[in-house]
Amino acid sequence: MPRYEFRCRTCASTFEVDRPMAAASDPADCPSGHDDTVKLLTTVGLGGKARTAQPPAMAPAGGGGGGCCGGGCCG
Ligand SMILES: [Zn+2]
Repeated sequence: MPRYEFRCRTCASTFEVDRPMAAASDPADCPSGHDDTVKLLTTVGLGGKARTAQPPAMAPAGGGGGGCCGGGCCG
């Protein structure tokens, strides 16, 4: 469940709320009971991991392997 960070404009405290994304835009009450809160931009850790592309393994020419062609007897 994503975590959203809110800031209370009444007491200037920040707090985090775990809620489903469907309720992301719903207002959240300050833990101290204030309801004048604003949602802060949250940095959700999407991506980040740089996936190193692996080159394909060198396939042997001919592909058959053991057949006549590719084994060297065809020439
Ligand atoms: Zn508050």
